[in-house]
Amino acid sequence: MLKTRFTEMFGVEHPIVQGGMQWVGTAALVSAVSNAGALGILTGLTQPTPEELSREITRCRDLTDRPFGVNLTILPTIKPVPYDEYREAIIESGVTIVETAGANPADHMPHFKSHGVKVIHKCTSVRHALKAQSVGADAVSIDGFECAGHPGEDDIPGLVLIPAATRQLNIPVLASGGIADAAGLVAALALGADGVNMGTRFMCTQESPIHSEIKKHIVASTEHDTALLFRPLRNTARVAANEVSREAIEILTSGGTFEDVRDLVSGARGRTVFENGDPEAGVWTVGLAQGLINDVPTVDELVRRMVDGAEEVIRGRLEAQIA
Ligand code: NAD
Repeated sequence: MLKTRFTEMFGVEHPIVQGGMQWVGTAALVSAVSNAGALGILTGLTQPTPEELSREITRCRDLTDRPFGVNLTILPTIKPVPYDEYREAIIESGVTIVETAGANPADHMPHFKSHGVKVIHKCTSVRHALKAQSVGADAVSIDGFECAGHPGEDDIPGLVLIPAATRQLNIPVLASGGIADAAGLVAALALGADGVNMGTRFMCTQESPIHSEIKKHIVASTEHDTALLFRPLRNTARVAANEVSREAIEILTSGGTFEDVRDLVSGARGRTVFENGDPEAGVWTVGLAQGLINDVPTVDELVRRMVDGAEEVIRGRLEAQIA
């Protein structure tokens, strides 16, 4: 058993979190993660309306009696999102853990706090983490440059970003980005983190709701097979390298605007990749961790493997190296 400030504060068995993932973080996966003793997080905006999110929370509660959270990501979107309504749906559903991401959570924080909701803020820089701490976040999840989705614009990988953060923050820190196995978990703890957040690794499990062809594609891909989209717009997203992302990157690098790539990059189109299993059908999110993924285990097997493996790494490999 690994006991950290995170497991204590959030009442979970293992210091492992499955963070928000658009089109992936549904009740099936989230409940499996929570049932395995880690923390599952539903992706709020995967549900088309706040009412649908309330229903998904109920579905998740029917599938697990362990703690789970909801992610609320605030980033540029094609259609305006009624964030306040999503926030109220989360609060009214009685969820007690929220993962905010993308923008400063200050506006939402008093609402969550006054209802006893613990907030994990996911961000990509120490500056933003300190800000989140100052406005009342209970924990932060720090995304290194390796991560899937939006790594920010500073390009600092986890080996430096995590200890840079843990040196300055007082609240628990989750290391995110590039973590897919027991060694990654131990490394994160060694760097001062209180746990890890994983996305790509959980995408590639039996319970993940994406098409099996995409899971196979992730297994066959390497750390070289991602691309950075939206760099010129300062909304960088790490996505799968394919013809669609290549075309969009080319248009933007040659001076195109978001309007010029909107239809290529839309989340609605990307969603069909996960539904129909064609990795070339649109833009979809995946991290460098795919280079470390060689199989599609059940969530329970994955969590066990990581926790047992972490103890083996610490007690075996590391201790044996002390002269
Ligand atoms: P969407 O279809 O609205 O947009 C698709 C992509 O285009 C997203 O990456 C979005 O940030 C970007 N985008 C939209 N309008 C933009 C603009 N005016 N300028 C620059 N970039 C713009 O998004 P979706 O797939 O329905 O996802 C909903 C939300 O979840 C988005 O905010 C998206 O960024 C976010 N998301 C986050 C992650 C993550 O890693 N945290 C992963 C996937 C999606």
